[in-house]
Amino acid sequence: MTGGSNGRGVIVTGAGSGIGRAAALAFAAQGDRVLVADLDAGRADAVVREIGEAGGTAVAVTGDLSEQAVVDRVAATAVERFGGVDVLVNNAGIMDSMSAPADVSDAEWERVIRVNLTAPFLLARAVLPHMLAAGRGAIVNTASEAALRGSAAGAAYTASKHGVVGLTKSLAVMYRKNGIRANAICPGGTATAISVEADRTAHGPAALGPHFVNLGRVSRPEEQAAAILFLASDAASNVNGAILPVDDGWSAV
Ligand code: NAD
Repeated sequence: MTGGSNGRGVIVTGAGSGIGRAAALAFAAQGDRVLVADLDAGRADAVVREIGEAGGTAVAVTGDLSEQAVVDRVAATAVERFGGVDVLVNNAGIMDSMSAPADVSDAEWERVIRVNLTAPFLLARAVLPHMLAAGRGAIVNTASEAALRGSAAGAAYTASKHGVVGLTKSLAVMYRKNGIRANAICPGGTATAISVEADRTAHGPAALGPHFVNLGRVSRPEEQAAAILFLASDAASNVNGAILPVDDGWSAV
């Protein structure tokens, strides 16, 4: 833990890279205290260092967020260091192989659903008692353009991100009387380290290829972070259950 601030306690998952890193830096820059959660210890520590050098406050928790024990460690660390959790950003995620349903292996299906959908559920479940006790909280989930259509990714990723939208809406409805809001962003193509290993001659990628003509401009991670910060802020005090495309209009095509 570095620095000192009286801001909100914010958990950002997948904060070692890309959209999560940009969000962690932006929260810290406005005085929030940030728990940087990531699978990659080197990346997480680098972001904590960067925040500390800029005068902010951050702590890293590393591990696979699809494991309950790691999630418990994230929640316990946030409560111990920040006295609670004001904001949870469920952002960590992995891409699939763009495979069509008939070609998805059990291992790929289980991994993608666990990281992209089960982990956000586990994290929400772990922090909700603290948000409920405080009578306030904001949850922002990073879904995807693939949460809005069938043509942006393979079957596993598409199903996982549609699930994130369902989880977001359930959270929004269930806790609307408890001062807790839940919203999601749906990024279009964004310049990050996320990787796709797709066999372009296979059925899935070949079927998807023609649909990518509508993708629009690839965004910067900071543009996604700005939407996350808005949804987590008091400026969005009446925004609950919203699924916000941040995609240069891809979803409007
Ligand atoms: P990224 O690969 O740059 O960053 C993701 C981070 O999440 C990495 O640091 C990685 O170590 C971490 N992570 C992955 N699995 C984890 C796990 N099991 N436990 C803990 N940490 C884990 O990618 P990104 O593009 O910044 O992705 C962030 C989110 O944005 C993801 O949910 C992704 O699906 C979503 N998204 C990205 C794009 C895009 O074009 N980049 C588009 C739509 C949605």
